[in-house]
Amino acid sequence: MSAEAYSKAYIARCHKTLKEWGAPLDGWFVFNVYDCLEEANELFTCELCGCTQVRIVHVMHNHHYFERISVGCICAGIMEGDILAAKERERLVKNRAKRRKNFLKKTWEETRYGVSLLWYRGKRLRIFRLGNGRFKVCYNNTSTECHKGKPITDFLTAVHAAFDLIDPVVEIWHA
Ligand SMILES: [Zn+2]
Repeated sequence: MSAEAYSKAYIARCHKTLKEWGAPLDGWFVFNVYDCLEEANELFTCELCGCTQVRIVHVMHNHHYFERISVGCICAGIMEGDILAAKERERLVKNRAKRRKNFLKKTWEETRYGVSLLWYRGKRLRIFRLGNGRFKVCYNNTSTECHKGKPITDFLTAVHAAFDLIDPVVEIWHA
């Protein structure tokens, strides 16, 4: 976002919109952050300023308002009164998306037992094909047969689940 995005006029416009909604100007905190490009393969429109090019969505919550508002980085920063904190969240989410992209390019080794194997940062990941057409991902003493709450039924989804096991979301915004 360009420098003028921080201008007083921009901030005033955001505050004006909040006032029109009868929403508080402060007391907002971040509830969730996600990469819309990664989750939905599209960009998001900021609910506060209307910018249509938002990739990282910050879901903002306020105890004195009836609904959550999903916004881009700068609007999130204005709402919570800390633009640097919003930018840092943005950076962490983008970096993790980059790591996932690289992870997806890795080649898994097929063993003769039908188990796929990958060494990643010195750690061993395994994907098992189960008899019922489903997949199981194992890493250290943890394993999962689900991704986003659903059983894993293809190899690519298993690879995504493996990434989530080895590089879990650190929800620093809940700290
Ligand atoms: Zn915005």
